[in-house]
Amino acid sequence: MDPVDILRAMKAALGGKGETALAAVEDRLKDPFAVLIATVLSHRTRDERTSEAAMRLFERFRTPQELAAAAESEVADLIRGVGFYRNKARAIIKIAREITEKHGGEVPRDLEGLLELPSVGRKTANCVLVYGFGLEAIPVDTHVHRIANRIGLVATRTPEETEGELMGIFPKRTWAEVNDTFVMFGKKICKPIGPRCWICPLTGFCEYYKVGLGRSEGTKRERRGKKKRKEKGSEEGRQSDTKK
Ligand code: SF4
Repeated sequence: MDPVDILRAMKAALGGKGETALAAVEDRLKDPFAVLIATVLSHRTRDERTSEAAMRLFERFRTPQELAAAAESEVADLIRGVGFYRNKARAIIKIAREITEKHGGEVPRDLEGLLELPSVGRKTANCVLVYGFGLEAIPVDTHVHRIANRIGLVATRTPEETEGELMGIFPKRTWAEVNDTFVMFGKKICKPIGPRCWICPLTGFCEYYKVGLGRSEGTKRERRGKKKRKEKGSEEGRQSDTKK
């Protein structure tokens, strides 16, 4: 199956529903700095909580200069609800200071510059390039890494290896779509535990499904569904017998 067709099939299966927290922040704030900070907030945190915390924070502190001068306790209060919020409050103030002091208040537009910022790794830097600047990059998180390996597009051990492989597999014009599509697909269909293979359009291609792993999970679920339907049927039958 052509990689671009895989992306299309995933999007069709999602039916245009939902967007990642970072896409939502970018849609609303149109600001690379907001995307950078929201990405740091998003680590080990649910999307809804990330968006809410980012919006609260940016209503109060709009620029790197403002956040650089903020009190850590106030920032922590605003982002309370995201995982490790105290550590993250300290981290994002440090990032804001570095951007203010070393980059004239502008977020670097290249991978190398972003990676020099404190608490910024490859995934975060690539997210800023894609969602903040609209540039071509493939941020690889656990969803992208898991799905690419399950399907059999790559056989890699680390997200970094996956990123390199995917950049060779997908045409550059599609790179910016890969993260959002894989992440939403990983949340709604190809879940970490109990992938919903019975509604997936990739069963004819997916290695995980072909070796029977996804199929056995689907079969278990189908069996549970049949059992429930049967129990419901007998219950309804008993009730109608009683009425007679
Ligand atoms: S068939 Fe199952 S394991 Fe394979 S991509 Fe679809 S949901 Fe994931």
